[in-house]
Amino acid sequence: MDVILVINSGSSSLKFALYSVEANANDALLTGVVSGIGVNPELKAKMNGEVLNNQEPFKSIPNDANHEWLIKELLNRLHTKYAQFKPIAVGHRMVHGGIHFTEPTLITDKSLQQLKALIPLAPLHQPHSIVAIEAMAKHEPDLLQIACFDTSFHRTQSKIEQMFAIPKALTDEGIIRYGFHGLSYEYIASVLPTYLGDKADGRVLVAHLGNGTSMCAMVNRKSVSSTMGFSTLEGLVMGTRCGLLDAGVILHLIKQKGMNVDEVSKMLYKESGLLGISGISSDMRDLENSDHPDAKQAINMFCHRAKEEIGNLTAVMNGLDAIIFTAGIGENSVMVREKICDPLAWLGVKIDDDRNATGKGKISADESKVKVFVIPTDEEATIANATRSFL
Ligand code: ADP
Repeated sequence: MDVILVINSGSSSLKFALYSVEANANDALLTGVVSGIGVNPELKAKMNGEVLNNQEPFKSIPNDANHEWLIKELLNRLHTKYAQFKPIAVGHRMVHGGIHFTEPTLITDKSLQQLKALIPLAPLHQPHSIVAIEAMAKHEPDLLQIACFDTSFHRTQSKIEQMFAIPKALTDEGIIRYGFHGLSYEYIASVLPTYLGDKADGRVLVAHLGNGTSMCAMVNRKSVSSTMGFSTLEGLVMGTRCGLLDAGVILHLIKQKGMNVDEVSKMLYKESGLLGISGISSDMRDLENSDHPDAKQAINMFCHRAKEEIGNLTAVMNGLDAIIFTAGIGENSVMVREKICDPLAWLGVKIDDDRNATGKGKISADESKVKVFVIPTDEEATIANATRSFL
């Protein structure tokens, strides 16, 4: 069977999935993730709902396995153990597409050079995707490779939404608000009519709340505004990233405290957010299970910032018809959804406690002016669909 291989290559993890090439085959045939790359790699995989973690070919991985080794091994193992699946194309998640990549793109020597030129815009993410692309090209040169971008979905935003109030020359060289999580938002936009009917084309706010968190305001299922900007640091409180921060703080850290760029970067990306506020964990489950006041403070701030940004995005859309919660926290945390929605009664938001506890589909009360839904996201399905369109 001809299949599409989807690769999502992160700094310490490599996710993969296989999809049939058949149109509308949105369910993955096989999914897997190698986490802890470079430290203590561990592989989890599933096929038809069956967990394959401890079976051949998904046995333990050497501690020094890097991304290139993993790609080669993945292809080997697919050939030897899952010969019924024949990959004919690979879709890659790319965090950054800059100004020019507004659509999924075929990888050629030229486009690969353009993607490499974008590394300075996403130094923590882009290099890992490029390593995966190069490893694929080396080991399976005949495979069609497609790059799918987290930034593309937001290129429909108005010019002023995308600008910072900085000198024009900097804006012109690409220091703008790109917005991220676009593959997730595109998936949600594609399934909105199933949940909202005609209202899908109204004013919809999607809250992608995972380890990385952002919100996107959609009108007519197109992005009109988002909370993440130039980098994946801006906006909401995240697991370990700071979100909204006065740029003056960074100047202070460098000038008065003598911190260097690497130290500031580590603090903003790895030591802030829920982890920084609580000093306990970046994981929402740990915080919900803790009685420590700092854990409660972290959850309260997470929800408060979310509420503020809902106000902001509602103003951009001139009103609000629906809120969608998605990703790890959005799909699973009853408490967070309640803490974000309850203070929005003035805006016509009312959730139904029983529906919220179930957390599937509609969770707003029937009389709620603004509809509230929980919709699971599926970035891999978006990538598989985009890749399919090249076949
Ligand atoms: P990523 O951005 O890495 O893809 P996820 O979308 O998987 O992350 O989200 C991870 C977050 O979801 C973590 O903070 C985790 O604690 C949270 N989460 C997962 N399940 C639950 C749950 N049942 N209750 C509360 N939070 C949860």
